Amino acid sequence: MKVSIERAAALLKCSQPVAIPTETVWGLAARLDDEPAMRQIFFLKGRPLKNPLIIHLSDPKFLFSCCTIKPPGLHELIDAFWPGGLTVVVPVNENKVPSLARAGLPTAAFRIPDHTTTLSLIKITGPLVAPSANRSGSPSATTPAHIIKDFGSWLPILQTKTYCRHGIESTILIWQDDAWHVGRLGAIGIDAIATVLGYEPARHTAHSDQPLCPGQLFRHYAPQARLTLSTGAWKEDDASQYDGVLGFSDRSYPGARRIITLSTSTDAASAGNALYSALRDLDRFQLKSVYVDINVPASADWLAILDRLEKASQS
Ligand code: AMP
Ligand code: MG
Repeated sequence: MKVSIERAAALLKCSQPVAIPTETVWGLAARLDDEPAMRQIFFLKGRPLKNPLIIHLSDPKFLFSCCTIKPPGLHELIDAFWPGGLTVVVPVNENKVPSLARAGLPTAAFRIPDHTTTLSLIKITGPLVAPSANRSGSPSATTPAHIIKDFGSWLPILQTKTYCRHGIESTILIWQDDAWHVGRLGAIGIDAIATVLGYEPARHTAHSDQPLCPGQLFRHYAPQARLTLSTGAWKEDDASQYDGVLGFSDRSYPGARRIITLSTSTDAASAGNALYSALRDLDRFQLKSVYVDINVPASADWLAILDRLEKASQS
């Protein structure tokens, strides 16, 4: 059900979650000051309560009012990348950010999305929590059709003319132990972040005993199909082993029963944009076992895509 900005604001006021567009992926939004609505989001998504939510703002004032320290580089990051696909996780005053949004952590995640319609909505409603608008574990939603597939057509969807430009989630930077760390690769490249910070933030790998980025602990972005990632070249006898191929339009996969392409193998931006639709297509065609061509450079622009494919291939 498509709704206007005013209607979305009214529904959110009555604790009704609304799907909102952003330049990364679609979000499923509730007001940060509405605990029942936030609970409803966890329930609708089947999201573990341990997995915290990103708080979406229309300006940085709220972040400054609740963070307990202003880490070096925070202002520069905000100036360079907001509105945009960068989320920052900082220590906060626990009385100012509801525990449910933080999953009980002493930190919270913030960003300003680069999407005019959604920014107009947030200006009316105040801060919104918005995890991706998909069932937990499934590929994120990058079109209204993906949202309807996961939740049904009853869910209010904020009407927009623009689409998810990146098609891949925000990059998450976490301030910990006096430095910024990468919690999740995403829409903003680490090379651009390193230029702003003057150093390349270290990648963090989650350990179940002390997670820095709790979302890393859960299965993510995954279609039903079993994915086999390959950095080599396609061989004709691969055709008998797989129901299909997820690959590139400038390569050939002789004998493959079905080929789904992301983009050309030199166009990371288009590949990122097509990724979640392509993963969902694997299920639409009921493919069980899929060869995934990841024979691409490990350059900054491909890293987030390779990371998602890696996670999607884990069982
Ligand atoms: P999603 O909204 O589904 O894109 O997921 C948001 C992700 O942000 C979570 O899965 C966490 O990995 C990360 N995140 C949110 N809040 C925090 C926090 N306080 N500390 C560390 N990571 C966070
Ligand atoms: Mg998500």
